[in-house]
Amino acid sequence: MRITRKVFHDLAIWMVGFGLSIGIVFPFFVILLGVPSNIALNKVFFAACLGAGALAGIINYGLARWVVGLRLRLLASSMSQVEQNLKKMTYSGDLSECTPENCMIYVDSEDEIGESALAFNRLVETLSKSMKTQAAVRSFSEMLTSQLEIETLAEKALLQFFEHTDAASGLVLYESGGKLEIAASHGLKSPELVAVSDHVRIAVRTGQRQVVSIPDDVRIDGVIMDFSPREIVVLPVKNKGVPLGVVVLATGKTFDSDQQARIDIFMQGLGLALNNAMAHDHLRRLAAIDPLTSIYNRRFGLGRLKEEFGRATRTGSLLGIIIFDIDHFKVVNDTYGHLVGDWVLKSICALARSSLREGDVLFRYGGEEFVAVLPAASSEDLRIIAERLRKGIEDNIFSKGITTVRVTVSIGGAAYPNQSNAGNEDLLLQLADEALYKAKESGRNRVILAH
Ligand code: GH3
Ligand code: MG
Ligand code: MG
Repeated sequence: MRITRKVFHDLAIWMVGFGLSIGIVFPFFVILLGVPSNIALNKVFFAACLGAGALAGIINYGLARWVVGLRLRLLASSMSQVEQNLKKMTYSGDLSECTPENCMIYVDSEDEIGESALAFNRLVETLSKSMKTQAAVRSFSEMLTSQLEIETLAEKALLQFFEHTDAASGLVLYESGGKLEIAASHGLKSPELVAVSDHVRIAVRTGQRQVVSIPDDVRIDGVIMDFSPREIVVLPVKNKGVPLGVVVLATGKTFDSDQQARIDIFMQGLGLALNNAMAHDHLRRLAAIDPLTSIYNRRFGLGRLKEEFGRATRTGSLLGIIIFDIDHFKVVNDTYGHLVGDWVLKSICALARSSLREGDVLFRYGGEEFVAVLPAASSEDLRIIAERLRKGIEDNIFSKGITTVRVTVSIGGAAYPNQSNAGNEDLLLQLADEALYKAKESGRNRVILAH
C-alpha cells in the first residue's frame, strides 16, 4: 500500500506509526499483567511509552535505511557505472571491452537485491549480444556493398563468418553454367570433394540448409579439413528464392542459437550481394566478348595485349603476336550470302581457339581480321603456331547443310624482343600488320614474320 511517492518515507510512516501504536497499547497491556492502573495510566508513564514506541520506530527506520538503502544505492551506482561503460563502447564500436569486470555487477546477496543484480546482468548480456550482432551485421553489410568481384566477395564473406561465428573452415560455391564453381575456400584440403558431396547437392536441390553433426567418438581427421569438425552446415545462397550457390561452414564446436541467427542474417545479405556480383560478372563478360564469334572483342583484346606487353618488358620475357585476315572473304559473302559468311567466321574462330594454348589471347581485331597474343612465344614458336593455324584452316572444309566452303588466311607475325625493338604494343601490332600486308601482297595463304 503506497502512502507517499517514496518507499522509504512510507516505511518511516509505517514504522513510527507502529511504534506509537505499541506505545498506546503498552500501558493497557501492563495493566493485564497486574500493574496498578493508576501507575499504568499515569500521564508520565503513558508519555514515556509513546516516546519509546516512536523512538523504536525511528531507530528501526534508520536501521532499514542504513542496511537496505545502502545496498540499493550501491546497486544503483554499479548500474550507472556499467551504463557509462556501455555508452563508451557503443560510441567506440569496440564491444570487446565488455568484459564481466566492466559490464556486470557483483552479486553478493541471495535475496531480492541479489535477484535484481542478476536480472540486470542478464539484461546487459542480452544487450551486449544484440549490440555485437548489430556490429557484425553492419561490418558484413559494409563488406557486401563494397565487393563486386565474385571471388573477392566470397573470400571476404568467409572471413566474416569465421570472425563472427565459431566456423573454422568453409567454402563458397556459386552456380555457373549449370555447374557449381568454387568461389572461395578456407581450411579445406579437398574443396572439390566437398563441392560434389550429397549434402551440397541436396541443399541446392531442396533450398534447405543441411546440418551434419559428427558425434564425439567419430573423428574426421586430415582427409577433408585441417581439424576434426563437430558440426558442418550447408547453407543454400538464394536471392528472391532463386538458388545461386552454397556456403559450407565447419566448426570444431557447435553453432549455438545466437550464431545460427547471425548466420541466417548474413546469408540474406550474401544472397543479394552474390546476385549483384554474378550480374556484374555477366555484364563484364558481355562487354569483353564479341557476340558473333564468342572470342574477345577489339577493346578487351587490345587491353590484354597492353598488359602482356607490359609484363614482357618488365620481366624480360618473350611475347609474340599474329594477325590473320581471311583471303577474299568478300567472295564468300557474295557467293554464299552473309549468313554463311558469319558462320565461317565463327568456325574459323573456334578452330583458331582450339589450336592456341590456354594463356594465349585471341580477339577479333576487325571484320574478318583476328589477333592472337602469345605470351612467351619466340619468333620460331610464332612461325610454327602461325603455320599450324594457316594449314588447319586451309585443310578444313567448312560445311553447313549442303553448303561447303573452303577458305585460306594470310598471317603476319611479330615477336618481342625483335631487331626493331618495338617500344610499345602498338608498334608490335603495326609490325605484324605490315607483315600481314606483305603476306597478302605476295600471294595470300601464307605466313610472313616481321624482321
Ligand atoms: P583480302 O582480305 O584477301 O584482301 O580480301 P577480302 O575480300 O577479304 O577483303 P577485305 O578484307 O577488304 O574484305 C572484308 C570483307 O569481310 C568485307 C565484309 O563484307 C566482310 N565482313 C566483315 N565483317 C563481316 C561479318 O561480320 N560478317 C560477314 N559475313 N562478313 C563480314
Ligand atoms: Mg580479307
Ligand atoms: Mg580484312
